[in-house]
Amino acid sequence: MSIVTNKQLLDRGLAGHYAVAAFNTNNLEYTQAILQAATELNAPVIIEAAKSEIDYMDGYVFVAMVRAMAEKLPIPVSIHLDHGPSYEEAIRCLRYGFTSVMYDGSSLPLAENIANTKKVVEAAHACGVSVEGEIGVIGQAEDGPEGPKQEFTGLADPDQCEEFVKKTGVDCFAAAIGNAHGLYKNKPLLRFDLLTQIEKRTGVPLVLHGGTGIPEEDIRKAITLGVSKINFSTVMRKGFIETLTATLNSSPGDLDLMKLLTPARMKMVEIAKHHIKMCMSDGKAWK
Ligand SMILES: [Zn+2]
Repeated sequence: MSIVTNKQLLDRGLAGHYAVAAFNTNNLEYTQAILQAATELNAPVIIEAAKSEIDYMDGYVFVAMVRAMAEKLPIPVSIHLDHGPSYEEAIRCLRYGFTSVMYDGSSLPLAENIANTKKVVEAAHACGVSVEGEIGVIGQAEDGPEGPKQEFTGLADPDQCEEFVKKTGVDCFAAAIGNAHGLYKNKPLLRFDLLTQIEKRTGVPLVLHGGTGIPEEDIRKAITLGVSKINFSTVMRKGFIETLTATLNSSPGDLDLMKLLTPARMKMVEIAKHHIKMCMSDGKAWK
């Protein structure tokens, strides 16, 4: 299979009632693990990187690495910019060879978010690249409120979502519905009532950020309400670091970096496979 766009992946997911798992990466082992997991499950997958991760790897190196690895695999893979902070960063990613970009103007007034997202859509669509936007503010779980069910503010407004999709032409967007990035202190209270309204009024595939720690039944319910892409990042890094720490503690003096990194990479394969199955995208790769 080859490199595809997020639109190609998400439209199929929406029609087929599953979500495509999107994993952030910032190095070789991480990327190998994601692609191994998706290949073993015959699943479509999104490899994404935020600006800090792109700066760490270099955009050209990152895209060349993913393309070299993915082009020989029997699964569709998309290369996506996560939380693009500016028009300029989106344009840089078009030049690097990304097949999908996110522009996150969620902290701006709606009119400004719409105007900027529209500019990104015009440029990206001219290059055959798909675009994800954001409405409502998806914050950090650690900064959020306490409580038996963590209840976040800054939620997406369905009226604004409808206007945003109509005026920008985005292919998909992330709506804040009670989700957050990082580790939740308690189960997050996802607002499925909001999600239902948003789905009815927009009709485009929806994206759920902060997938780490959202219970499986909530993931499944979100998929029935139009969520077609789910982002996982913290859970992968946590598993990698915990396994690497244990390996280092049990191998004092060992200087074989490949041997030391392999168990951590294999832990990431296991975690990625678990989350791909939660998204119900296993077996959904197409020829
Ligand atoms: Zn996010």
